Amino acid sequence: MLLAAQNSGHSLGASRHPATLLAIPSEESLWENLRPYRPDPDPPLSYHENVPGFYVENFGCRATQADGAAIEQQFRARGIAHAVSPENAEFVILNTCTVTASADQDARAAIRRIRRQNPGCEIVVTGCYAQRAPGEVGALPGVSRVIGNSHKHRLAEIALSADSRPESLSAFVPLASLGAEPHMLTAISLAEPDRFFVSDIFAHTELLAAPVFGNGELDLHARTRPNLKVQDGCDNRCSFCIIPSVRGHSRSLPMERVLTEVNALVAAGYREVVISGINLGRWGRDLPVAGGRHPAARFESLVRAILSETNLEKLRLSSIEPMDWSDELIALVAGSPRIARHAHVPMQSGSDAVLRRMHRKYRPWHYREKIEKIRDAMPTAAIGADVMVGFPGESDADFEETRRLVDDLPFTYLHVFTYSSRPGTPSAAMRDQVPVHLARERNRILRDLIAEKKLAFMHSFVGKTLEAISLNTTMLSGAGRGDSAKRAQAAAGKPAVSEHHSGENFTEALTDNYLKLSLRGTHQPNRWLKAQILQVQDSILIGAGI
Ligand code: SF4
Repeated sequence: MLLAAQNSGHSLGASRHPATLLAIPSEESLWENLRPYRPDPDPPLSYHENVPGFYVENFGCRATQADGAAIEQQFRARGIAHAVSPENAEFVILNTCTVTASADQDARAAIRRIRRQNPGCEIVVTGCYAQRAPGEVGALPGVSRVIGNSHKHRLAEIALSADSRPESLSAFVPLASLGAEPHMLTAISLAEPDRFFVSDIFAHTELLAAPVFGNGELDLHARTRPNLKVQDGCDNRCSFCIIPSVRGHSRSLPMERVLTEVNALVAAGYREVVISGINLGRWGRDLPVAGGRHPAARFESLVRAILSETNLEKLRLSSIEPMDWSDELIALVAGSPRIARHAHVPMQSGSDAVLRRMHRKYRPWHYREKIEKIRDAMPTAAIGADVMVGFPGESDADFEETRRLVDDLPFTYLHVFTYSSRPGTPSAAMRDQVPVHLARERNRILRDLIAEKKLAFMHSFVGKTLEAISLNTTMLSGAGRGDSAKRAQAAAGKPAVSEHHSGENFTEALTDNYLKLSLRGTHQPNRWLKAQILQVQDSILIGAGI
């Protein structure tokens, strides 16, 4: 899952929230049948009525975005308004990632930017970087509070307590008194303990859950495909990965709660829901198994229950580790038209020696077998993977094994990452760190390879029919001047229509098997349609609704 997290970008902007839907004029809006998701469960409190607002900026993976959405709910439940930008907010929450060194840099740059734009605001830094290095974060000029993942579930309460209820701070135990690990205790966190709320993440069992309305690079501004985090944390110990030490043990949203969330999204008009987690395939392993309507708490049982107990039109699974793609799961996905034809299976390396040093639990031949089974069961499915290049000790021969495996297997897209050493991980202390220029070259080779494979996959659908969901905006690469106009249309609640193909109008869509599609003509957003594929242009399918 780590690399899926890396792929989703380090700065995806502020997460969307249901209130956005309410702002769209209902009369002409093509979103009229998308009702607001649901009210916050807690009654609004009134004691912060004069507070101008909060703003949450998320960095990193879908799990972090889901946490950001839950943090927004915390503030709204306390009667605090969402500010339109960080410049207008009293509280700016930076929900950080620490999966690479550049993720840390992004967070530090954001702190400097916010401080420049809005010197009077309270900057609260939370998320994985805050959990990993609270002292480092807290020492940055402008940072008011550092609230780790361990205390994220009470973030608004802590942030607001300093504003008008200082006495409530006594309800929280600050970092220095919590037996925090030595690396968390820096001079600054010891000197100013009330600014630091970070403790042992492995002692925590909370799981922040709120749907995210916008899904990464394919429809960054969309409200069509909410992402629901159903699992957090990870019990694996991949040697390069910092995630377990900042997100803690694997824990799952109980099945009944998942079904409630999905049913609420369906009732609000959503037609596709993406379920995600840090290690999604481990969903349920921490839940009690005895009794109840759903006694077998395994990921497959969750998927089955979503199919049988909700009217969701399309369920999409995010990243699932190779060994969790059981025969049962493959058959389930292949056998239901209500599950997107899409498998994201982290690979990391095609070299046995590298996989062993990474402490990955499978060998290249296991991985090959899984992908071949998935392709046999679903000949038209999108199959993607995370691949890491430049892991310590990766020789030319090791890389060649990875390149060959990528070439051999029927991937339709890849997320290729260059290894980034993370303090505190076993691989950071390994010898033979690969020179950056070599790692970058390996990265380029894999990107070129997958670009060819993806194009061939796309061309294989010309003249055929694919299912697709119409989106409300576009992220067409190379769309050029048309982009801003299309975003403006989307912001006004109008369907995304592009005009850059021979002067015709086109509506952006995403196929069941995860390909960008430009549909001829104007189509209402958030509809599953059948499309005849006409051609491939600029790495995008061009099609017509049928
Ligand atoms: S430890 Fe391994 S499986 Fe767990 S989040 Fe990190 S990379 Fe993914």
